[in-house]
Amino acid sequence: MNTAFLDRLRSAVRAVPDFPKPGIIFKDITPILGDAALLRETVDALAEAARPLAPSKIVGIESRGFIFGAAVAVALGVGFVPVRKKGKLPWTCEAVSYALEYGEATVEIHKDAVARGERVVVIDDLLATGGTAAAAVELVRRLGGEVAEVQFVIELGFLNGRRLLPGVAVRSLLTY
Ligand code: AMP
Repeated sequence: MNTAFLDRLRSAVRAVPDFPKPGIIFKDITPILGDAALLRETVDALAEAARPLAPSKIVGIESRGFIFGAAVAVALGVGFVPVRKKGKLPWTCEAVSYALEYGEATVEIHKDAVARGERVVVIDDLLATGGTAAAAVELVRRLGGEVAEVQFVIELGFLNGRRLLPGVAVRSLLTY
């Protein structure tokens, strides 16, 4: 991929120490969103990677995955499906719970959002421990969908989130 673009992308990611709690270095992608050229190039990079996989839906993970995922869906001319935290989606849902550092979280998808046999690409802004993405993959599979790839703008490689995504194609634009 275009290394000048990736250098600009990396420079735009703002590291915010101790947010939302002490010890976490939060990767803030809002400078990417605010830069018209970078936003377009980031969406194009994800869309061009997804296009040959011929997905018929893009699944975006709440909440920054909605921003990139919806843009990629428009670029590819396919539909968009939100995966949301428990209690936010109004229709009948499939739910998957997963472990957090302390406690657990649940994500949901509308049961009619992905058809049996449908190919999807899952998108989020960042891969950390992998729990969220693995739960999103499980949701798609429970509906009978096929996950062609999971895409991230940023991967925190040192947290090895890929180990929770065995057998799933994973692509990240930037790795830390
Ligand atoms: P995980 O389930 O640990 O892979 O966490 C992934 C989700 O948490 C993604 O939706 C990210 O947006 C968010 N997240 C986790 N860690 C960070 C971080 N250091 N900076 C920004 N977002 C994060």
